[in-house]
Amino acid sequence: MSDDNTSEKAVKPRKIQTPPGIHDILPKEHDYFTFIKKVVRHRARQSGFRRISTPILEFTEVFDRSIGDSTDIVQKEMYTFEDRGGRSMTLKPEGTAGVVRAYVQHGMKEFPQPVELYYIEPHFRYDRPQKGRYRQFWQFGFEIIGESDPALDVQCIYIANKIFEDLGVANRLTLQINNIGSPKSRAKYVEAIENFYVGKERSLCENCLARLETNPLRLLDCKEEDCQILAQLAPKFEQFRSEEDNHFHNLVKEFLDELEIKFVENEQLVRGLDYYTQTVFEFWDSETGSQNAVGGGGRYDGLVEELGGESTPGTGFSVGIERLIYHMKQANIQVPSKDNVHVFVAQLGDLAKKKCLRLMDQLRERGVKTVGALGKGSMKAQMKLADKFGVPYTLIMGITEVREGTVIIRDMAKGQQRFVKMEQVVEEVVKLIGEENLDLYSPGEVTVMP
Ligand code: AMP
Repeated sequence: MSDDNTSEKAVKPRKIQTPPGIHDILPKEHDYFTFIKKVVRHRARQSGFRRISTPILEFTEVFDRSIGDSTDIVQKEMYTFEDRGGRSMTLKPEGTAGVVRAYVQHGMKEFPQPVELYYIEPHFRYDRPQKGRYRQFWQFGFEIIGESDPALDVQCIYIANKIFEDLGVANRLTLQINNIGSPKSRAKYVEAIENFYVGKERSLCENCLARLETNPLRLLDCKEEDCQILAQLAPKFEQFRSEEDNHFHNLVKEFLDELEIKFVENEQLVRGLDYYTQTVFEFWDSETGSQNAVGGGGRYDGLVEELGGESTPGTGFSVGIERLIYHMKQANIQVPSKDNVHVFVAQLGDLAKKKCLRLMDQLRERGVKTVGALGKGSMKAQMKLADKFGVPYTLIMGITEVREGTVIIRDMAKGQQRFVKMEQVVEEVVKLIGEENLDLYSPGEVTVMP
């Protein structure tokens, strides 16, 4: 017994950390997240999109049926488990399937069409963790469901582009577009691709060999060098597009020209999800290419039906927020942070603390960002803390000040301090900070319905 105890003590407790590929978002990183979310919300509002949040956990069939059984995501990357009731559940690996499931479930067909929705959500894929590839990552995405028109595809690209411009990264990204036709024309193309690879199996990577059986179109965007060489020689979809497909594609290109959005036509772009039809597009890192696409999307005219609704067209895109932040940092983009604090309140004694709590409330209500040392630290320790916050001013209240109804205002940069009457201290601080710097943001007033 005692031996066991000794050996247990000798084992160092395992450091508890986040799992590989899953990260905390610390405050500094949140400055970027907050700013991106603001830009996304603004651009969404401007174009009449409403926000939707679908659950992180869905029945697995939502993704099996939409993304496609044979895709990498469904075959290798989903976090799938049985819940206690024996149902197969999955952490959402992407956003569109859930939004379309919600469209069907909540009868959005009855809303004025098209229904325009956007989301900002975390997603989960059991990817191999590496730079820009995580197991939990954030995406924002836009969906337009209920109408089929090339102008709607272009509307999606236009919004993504606006957001990239707002964030200062548009010139680092290249828009790649393709048209993969209707399921009918694609079926003919798939057959041609299968025929093309007959006898060339030995030159393919292991993944592509498997894909040849399950999802031959994915051979076209394999990243292995030998596979890429073959893909260049493979038949091009252009030959298999119907007149209708061509018309659709030409209009997409004309509308992009009209909006002066630059693009590159990429015959090999197919995207990793089965539900796409007609237009597909991605935003590539101009320097390194598709491996690090920042976002992508396309038309998914069969998806609503696949998930149990009536035949209804749709189009949309999603963008990876971590990859976006990477580009912002590479481009030296600084985002405004509103986290700086104006005033630190230091105090000594319970009576002073009591007065401080009230003073802090008055300052905050007036828009002065205020922190206080409400623990038991000495004045020296509190002043150190004030330095750490980098505040321009500290208010000090000790036993004498409480007795005399005064507060000391200390200018931290100059090291000068003066006494101010308690009743005047809030307005005195406002004068020092400047009205224009106050944090008076209001989310809007709530109203009570009669
Ligand atoms: P997809 O639906 O796979 O085209 O993903 C859309 C965007 O989400 C990509 O362009 C990336 O920016 C981002 N993304 C996808 N998978 C990951 C991942 N494992 N880690 C980080 N970002 C990702």
